[in-house]
Amino acid sequence: MKFETKLLHGGISEDAGTGATSIPIYMASTFHQQKIGENKYEYSRTGNPTRDAVEALIADLEGGTAGFAFASGSAAIDTVFSMFSAGDHFIVGNDVYGGTFRLIDSVLKRFGMTFTVVDTRDLNAVEAAITPATKAIYLETPTNPLLKVTDIAAVAKIAKNHNLLSIIDNTFSSPYVQRPLELGVDIVLHSASKYLGGHSDVIAGVVVVRDSKLAERIGYLQNAIGGILAPQESWLLQRGMKTLAIRMQAHLANAKKVFDYLSDQPSVAKIYYPGDPNNPDYEVAKKQMHGFGAMISFELQPGLDPKKFVENLKVITLAESLGALESLIEIPALMTHGAIPREIRLKNGIKDELIRLSVGIEDSNDLLADLDRGFTSVQQGKDHVTDSTRHS
Ligand SMILES: *Cc1c(COP(=O)(O)O)cnc(C)c1O
Repeated sequence: MKFETKLLHGGISEDAGTGATSIPIYMASTFHQQKIGENKYEYSRTGNPTRDAVEALIADLEGGTAGFAFASGSAAIDTVFSMFSAGDHFIVGNDVYGGTFRLIDSVLKRFGMTFTVVDTRDLNAVEAAITPATKAIYLETPTNPLLKVTDIAAVAKIAKNHNLLSIIDNTFSSPYVQRPLELGVDIVLHSASKYLGGHSDVIAGVVVVRDSKLAERIGYLQNAIGGILAPQESWLLQRGMKTLAIRMQAHLANAKKVFDYLSDQPSVAKIYYPGDPNNPDYEVAKKQMHGFGAMISFELQPGLDPKKFVENLKVITLAESLGALESLIEIPALMTHGAIPREIRLKNGIKDELIRLSVGIEDSNDLLADLDRGFTSVQQGKDHVTDSTRHS
């Protein structure tokens, strides 16, 4: 089955008991056991038919054998790290989601895990960071907010050669754009709150694996820790996922148009988009992604006020998060990455003037007209905003 067909007919696409073409929301905490030990379901933390359906679907879409749904992307990430123990060492990408960095830095480190942060695009640096205690390489590609692209197959190979697990957070691409398991990665996870759910109405996370031992381990921890996705949310997630392909096609087409428009803007100092032929990561992106995603970050010329830009938009929503139907825009320095000390942020290349845009599926002309509105507003206010921008 092709991807578009799998979205509708993959996984468990209808209710076994009734033939209902929409999986029912099984609001049950426990299940009547006719004979002890012979039931498919016993207790809804351990297994629930609605959750099973969305788990089977994501496993199919990512090309895995088992999927697991969690109450959030963060719960999914925490459960994956719970496979490991005190003393274990990890190599982590240097531009990972802020919440992942927080989990590592303020939670997992307290449990005796150690981490080396590297730019995973640099394969020599990845290899050099491996120690006898290293257990896994954890990365995102493209990254947030600078959209850096790592060669997934190459990192997976390094991991295999050294007997390490490779783990990828695939949130920014969705399985429509990129399927890391097919490139040799061991564990793929998502914040399903973004493209998978797609409608800004559900917080969820998923993990997918191919190997049966890993599946058993993750399943055990999902039940033991209990950060499961509830039946109602499971239903909402699979409902959102059915349209992933047509949504992504619209996202990708609009992103290309926004990129072309931004490329001609004198007020834009720099654009970060894997589909930019001048981007140093372009060839790797082309090789492993189907389309280039729909996230674009850009810097205004120094002295232009990014706050004024985003606050003057009328169509594009000023909000955190991404991967929604509606376009979302934000200033990493003031919002998603505001907790990172300014010096570290600047060292990581996240300037005050940087704006991150999750391109939605509105009519592209309305999006470009809205961006025009933003550029006009910063040009008008040019003279007296220079200083406040510097010190924000
Ligand atoms: C949002 C996000 C997360 C965290 O997911 P939640 O569902 O918000 O817990 C993890 N990774 C990436 C890349 C994200 O964008």
